[in-house]
Amino acid sequence: MEKTTKTNTFTFDVFAKDGSARAGRIITPHGNVETPVFMPVGTQASVKALTPAQLHELQVQILLSNTYHLYLRPGEDTIASCGGLHTFMNWQKPILTDSGGYQVFSLGKLRKIDEEGVWFTSHIDGSKHQFTPEISMQIQEKLGADIIMAFDECPPPHDKTYNIEAMHRTHLWAERCLKAKPKNGQTLFGIVQGGIFPDLREASAQYLANLNFPGYAIGGLSVGESKRDMLAMIKVVNAILPENKPRYLMGVGTPEDLIEGIAQGVDMFDCVLPTRLARHHAAQTLRGRINLANAANSQNERPIDPDCGCYTCQNFSRAYLKHLISAREMLAATLLSIHNIHTLVKLAERLRQSILEKQFDLVCQELRASLQQGE
Ligand SMILES: [Zn+2]
Repeated sequence: MEKTTKTNTFTFDVFAKDGSARAGRIITPHGNVETPVFMPVGTQASVKALTPAQLHELQVQILLSNTYHLYLRPGEDTIASCGGLHTFMNWQKPILTDSGGYQVFSLGKLRKIDEEGVWFTSHIDGSKHQFTPEISMQIQEKLGADIIMAFDECPPPHDKTYNIEAMHRTHLWAERCLKAKPKNGQTLFGIVQGGIFPDLREASAQYLANLNFPGYAIGGLSVGESKRDMLAMIKVVNAILPENKPRYLMGVGTPEDLIEGIAQGVDMFDCVLPTRLARHHAAQTLRGRINLANAANSQNERPIDPDCGCYTCQNFSRAYLKHLISAREMLAATLLSIHNIHTLVKLAERLRQSILEKQFDLVCQELRASLQQGE
């Protein structure tokens, strides 16, 4: 085992459980994260359409950024010479970076995999690059996030033969990441793979649990499988992962997914959905999704959600938002992003509170009914 792990830079405690749902706290060099938590995504060191000041106001506790994008542009050396990612993007709270694996494997024909790593072609200028577990660790060290991810392979979820192969590769790569991980107090999470196959998920969770990572992600979900399969896989994996380590469900972030994921013992979520929906004129509420571009909103003086305490709902009507969208004003994306992120941050907070008060099931029932009922 690693002797250089600085446990004083990262801790995780579970304070309360209600069923399988957990309320806890992660402590990182850049501050604390109360869990369960939703992490907005700043793909290119920027949460689209929002300033860090707005993210603070939204009580965002931790951001995710993408190694693949930052490696290609502006490059990890530029970010390191600007003082690391926290200083570069002026976000002094915790940051998590992914390993680059997911993006590289999403490139389809633009990449080639072998045991060593992955060769890929830049989507920006067509140049050739290689990611290996060691290279991913070096890049993430220069970026300087508090939590970094092991380099893994994320295969299509339904192909068993491919999933067996990819899982074994992911396990070997996880061991190489542990050997190559930075010695500077950054915390490395392992990633469980295995598609929609319970036996593979079990094997992967067991293998990685034995490697004793300080935290674990469940990868390869929300990539085209059914919700039923997704929840079944989370259940299988969480039954094996150690209770005292955080569990992070990657790339998942609808209100429904947060509720059901937390019910299965997930602590962390990230997703581009709230900001992506905002750029496509949609608001996520606890009564379902609303398309503000609809003509029906032209004369509507009500806010998106009268029960929402966000800056957008406190100050602007649907008619104004519809106008901004029609006039192609950038403010539309900002105001909708504020609302959508607020919704998920507050939802995670409310569920956390319900776990502490042993009211989790009751609150979930109310939320599920509200989401199904719609407006
Ligand atoms: Zn709102």
